[in-house]
Amino acid sequence: MAIKSSKPDIERTVSPRQQEDEIISEISLRPRRLDEYVWQAQMKEHLSVAIQSAKIRNKPLEHILFYWPPGLGKTTISTIIAHEMGSAIKSTSGPAIEKQSDIISILTSLTEGEILFIDEIHRLRPQIEEILYSAMEDYQIDIMIGSGTGATSVKMDIPAFTLIGATTRLSNLSNPLRDRFGNVMKLDFYETIDLARIIKRSFSLLGLSTLSDAAILSVAERSRWTPRIANRYVKILRDYATVGKPIENKDECEAIFEGFGVDSYGLDILDRKLMMHLMESFHGRPVGLSTLASVVGEEVATIEDVVEPYLLQIGFIERTPRGRQITMKWEEYMRKTE
Ligand code: ADP
Repeated sequence: MAIKSSKPDIERTVSPRQQEDEIISEISLRPRRLDEYVWQAQMKEHLSVAIQSAKIRNKPLEHILFYWPPGLGKTTISTIIAHEMGSAIKSTSGPAIEKQSDIISILTSLTEGEILFIDEIHRLRPQIEEILYSAMEDYQIDIMIGSGTGATSVKMDIPAFTLIGATTRLSNLSNPLRDRFGNVMKLDFYETIDLARIIKRSFSLLGLSTLSDAAILSVAERSRWTPRIANRYVKILRDYATVGKPIENKDECEAIFEGFGVDSYGLDILDRKLMMHLMESFHGRPVGLSTLASVVGEEVATIEDVVEPYLLQIGFIERTPRGRQITMKWEEYMRKTE
């Protein structure tokens, strides 16, 4: 079992297995207060009201479930909530909680009002979910005392806490678990203008405040509407600037992106490989997800959670009952770039 600040599950631009220095610099770019967090105004208002109400009532915040693709800010917003509530936060992830004793020891070690953040909550095992039901609803857990026929179940109180669950797969969550969350919140991909705000802030935190708006926009346009990718590109440009390469304007930045294979739509080598296979090997016909994953040499979950959400969103592929298929928009894009 691991309790720590957790990361999602796929290598690439939205990777879980980050290097120590990357995690440290990510922490420094992570906004700490709700007013620094770029989000739709209504969602922010809704969350802010829930936080203020919990504080006035002197009760823990209702449990919250966040769902959206990796890299869009679930961990960040959970940390902000803890900060705004003045509460401690413990972070873990669904696959890290292996045994019932793991979840019992996490729950019994919480302090009053503490936040428990469980990333990839859809990957919790059913026996562990069951313990969460009464923990979430009544702040109680059932503990078995003794063994064999003499075993009895005893209810034990645990501190009142807030569970923040994060998932990229809402549909994989069992209904009883989903129903116990007082708030279920979805975040969509970010608008280019919002990403530009995040990028500007990150550049200035990294000591680069002289960038032109055009350069900021060129990063925003390539970041697949995802802050984690935006921050990664910001750090790459920072590295170029550190070794004396100019990054003052759009053209200079674009040349750098071209150099490492990211085009003006933010498509990278993996996206293009997938699209080319759909177009050439399958002649534009629909292809099942597992076939597609095996021809590009990636796991199905990588294609589903990391690659295709953006390709679907920009309209380069579509889902049909028989599989994924390229669209006219992709064909137009190909004609333009040839
Ligand atoms: P997730 O948990 O959804 O995978 P994270 O919370 O780890 O994503 O966010 C990834 C990076 O993007 C972090 O470095 C964070 O600083 C930045 N980030 C995410 N959302 C926002 C936001 N709304 N405003 C500013 N920065 C953000």
